[in-house]
Formats: sequence, structure tokens, C-alpha cells
Amino acid sequence: MSDYIKVKNPATGQVIKEIRINSEEEIKEKLKKGHDCFKKWAKVNAHERSRLLRNWSRIIQENKTEIAEIITLENGKPLSESLGEVDYATSYIDWYAEEAKRIYGRTVPASSETKRIIVTKQPIGLVAAITPWNFPAAMMTRKAAPALAAGCPFIVKPAVETPITTIKLVELAHEAGIPVDVIQYVNGSGTKVGELFTSSEYVRKITFTGSTPIGKLLIKNSADTVKHVTMELGGHAPLIVCEDADLDFAVQQALLTKFRNAGQTCVCANRIIVHEKIAKTFSKEFAEAAQKLIVGNGLDKGTQIGPIINEKGYNKIINQINDAIEKGAEVLAGNQFIADREKGYFFVSPTVLANVKLNMNIMHEETFGPVAPIITFKSLEDAVEIANSTPYGLAAYFFTNNYKTGTYLSENLDFGIVGWNDGAPSGSHIPFGGMKESGIGREGGLEGIEPYLETKYLSIGNF
Ligand code: NAP
Repeated sequence: MSDYIKVKNPATGQVIKEIRINSEEEIKEKLKKGHDCFKKWAKVNAHERSRLLRNWSRIIQENKTEIAEIITLENGKPLSESLGEVDYATSYIDWYAEEAKRIYGRTVPASSETKRIIVTKQPIGLVAAITPWNFPAAMMTRKAAPALAAGCPFIVKPAVETPITTIKLVELAHEAGIPVDVIQYVNGSGTKVGELFTSSEYVRKITFTGSTPIGKLLIKNSADTVKHVTMELGGHAPLIVCEDADLDFAVQQALLTKFRNAGQTCVCANRIIVHEKIAKTFSKEFAEAAQKLIVGNGLDKGTQIGPIINEKGYNKIINQINDAIEKGAEVLAGNQFIADREKGYFFVSPTVLANVKLNMNIMHEETFGPVAPIITFKSLEDAVEIANSTPYGLAAYFFTNNYKTGTYLSENLDFGIVGWNDGAPSGSHIPFGGMKESGIGREGGLEGIEPYLETKYLSIGNF
């Protein structure tokens, strides 16, 4: 890698900005600064930390259009989705600005009259974050806001595809009054920065959003210094449509959750599992609606499906489609591509595959693109078995109006997030995260601040 990251617009392949890569010395220096300001930041009272976070949120909102344009330029998603992401990003800051004031301890009845017991919470120390390119703003604030609210300094390394959003957000945090050493960014390759973060004596916690293999590596590398970890990893969400479901609603929700961000989200419905009696009707309606989605540059008005982030992602999508077709899948929509390997842009039209079988790669590998495989089921037990037959356990969706069916599915699906007649269950107020190889810990809601806190218990004797 050169000394600069060439950030490209994935819709055109053109370089939009060059970002300097930090040297090893600079990164170590920043980690030390983050550590050195810990005690001071931890002592800032909760109401003041809350005020600073609210300021940050307000200033981000004042710059909403500019930030959304940056997201679309470096990530490719439609501008409307980028504007939505800015709101989603600030919703975490708003939520944790409030939670900062609600970090409670407790007293415990002692086993002797001569003692008193008090349990308190205190911030864990310097937090180092590594974020992905698919939600460059929200994945950063979902980590930074609870860390800062808890009293932890924060340092972040964004993905090489999307560093500009992070730089802008950190600059605005400083403008909002958050001290410069309390929130910092570094730029460089994941491998290099990951090594420096995990081996640093100053870092007390690693928080990561990205792929499962890199998450596993970070967990291993954090073991030597026994760092706390939060891992938001890959997903391969099933979406089950039961015989009694409201079909139009299920189609509309499936479209929403499958094709957001051109299918490049961890909670995308990647395996559509439909009861055999309604499969034909559902597939027809879904494919017709998918075909109408407009593919193009995210900055163009009306675009609904932007580009694939890079050639590696594009190749994986093509391989999954070809493998499925070779093994007997039928193309109901899409399977069309606009790509220029030399210029470096890659678009895939929303693709719907029917007659899908479990031996196809698309049923086992995480799909990160606008491809929807449809498989059928006979019994609810079969549907659950197909849904759970993956090492991933992030999000799952099902559609039914029968409360017994719904209760059975919600109790038997091994996923951290379950949407019952709901294709968009995210939000800053809920605990987002996965079971199995989809991660460790939760972000958002009441649960999201706990991983940034240590529990200390004080026993006072001799009363
Ligand atoms: P990725 O390849 O794992 O990259 C994510 C981040 O990890 C990037 O900043 C990357 O830096 C860094 N990285 C790469 N190699 C590293 C290493 N050896 N040590 C430390 N850091 C390293 O994932 P991605 O393709 O960007 O993102 C998509 C993945 O994220 C999918 O699997 C998706 O499901 C998951 N995701 C999960 C959630 C969730 O909440 N569970 C949310 C969004 C995305 P470079 O840019 O330098 O490579």
C-alpha cells in the first residue's frame, strides 16, 4: 500500500480523494494520547458528557446534506439512503447522550451488620474501533457514542473504501467541544492497524464490525492482553414466508430488507424460504417488483440500487449466481451487469433465483449483493431447519398472522434479531447483535453501554 489511500467513487471508479496513511509511530502516539486523557475524560461529569454528545449530534445534523453526499460518493448507496444513514447515525448519539446520565450502581444487603456493600460502574479505558464500509457513519457512531457516554476515550480505523465520512464525523466531534484526544481516527490497512490496536497495552477494548474471519482473528489477537471485545460480524438472514402471510406486505418488506444498500448489509434477507403452496405467487410478485428497481449512480435522482463496493465483492456475487444456475436455479429477474474492470465500477441488477437447493453456495456463504434466492418448504420444522443451518445467527424474518406459528418460529430461530412481520427491526433503542458466529455483545439500547463499563464492588467494614 502506498502512503495514501486512493478513495474511489464505486459508481464511476474515479478517485475522489487521497487520504494519508498514518505511520506506525503516529498510530502508537495516538494510542498513547487516547490512554493519557482517559482519567480526565472519565471525571467529566455525566451531564457534561451528555451535553457534548448532544452538540455533536446537532452539528452533524446541520451538516447532514454534505455528509450524506460524502457517504454516497465513497460507498455508492442512493442519496436518500445516505440521508437516512445520517439520521440513523445521530440517533445513536442522541440515545447515548441520555444513557450517559443513567449509568447506575446499586447497594447490596451485606451478610454482616458491620459491613456495607456498594456496586459501581466505571469506564473501561481506551476503546479502539474498526469499522466497515457499508454504513460508514452509523457503524462508527454506534460505537463512539456509548464509549464516550461511558467516559471512555475512542479511536477508530475506518475501512479503506470509506474513510472520508469518519474523518468528517471526528472533525465535527471536535467542533462540538469533545477534546481532540478523546475522539481520534487513524488511517491504514486493517492488518497493520489491527495488529497495533490488539497488541497495544493502552487499549482496553476492541470493538469491531466486519466479517466473521477478521472478527475471529481480532478475538485471538486480543487474548494476550485480555482485552474486552464486542464483535458485530457477518450474517446470512433467512426470511420465512408462511402459508397464511399477507403476501403483498411480505413482498414489500422482503424487497426492503433484501435490496437496501444494493444488498450489502449484514441483515439483508439472503435466503428467502417460502411455503410451497404460495411460492409461485410470491416469487412472481417479488421478481416483478425487483425488476422495477432502478439501478444507477447513487447521486442520480430516482436511483434505488447503487454499485457494488469493489471488484472482490462483484466477483463473489457473480460466482454465487453462476454456481446456482449451474446447479439448476431458474432466473426470475436480473442477472444483468454493467461493469468495467479497468475503470473499476460494478453494478448488478436485482436478481431473483427460484428452484434453489441447499447444495448451492448462495445458501451457505454470506451474500453481499442484490441477489435473492428462493427456496420452498413444506413444514414449519423444515423452515426452521433450513433457517438455522448456518454458522451465522444475526437477523431472521418471518411473515405470518397466526400467533401459534409466530410463537413457534420466534422461539426456535437461533438469531439475535427476529422480525415478525417486520423487515426493518433496527434502531438505536434496541440491542442489535448476533448469536453463534455473528458476534459477541450487543450495540444499541440499554445493553449497548454496558460493554464500555467495568463493575467495581466496594465492601466497607468495621461499622
Ligand atoms: P472486513 O473485510 O472484515 O472489513 C471490516 C474492517 O476490518 C475494515 O475496516 C477492514 O480494514 C478491517 N480489517 C481487514 N483486515 C483486518 C485485519 N487483519 N485486522 C483488523 N482489521 C482488519 O468486512 P467488510 O467487507 O468491510 O464488511 C462487510 C462485513 O461486515 C460483512 O461480513 C457484514 O456482514 C459485516 N457487517 C456486520 C454488521 C453487524 O452489525 N453485525 C454490520 C455491518 C457489516 P481495510 O479496509 O483496511 O481492509
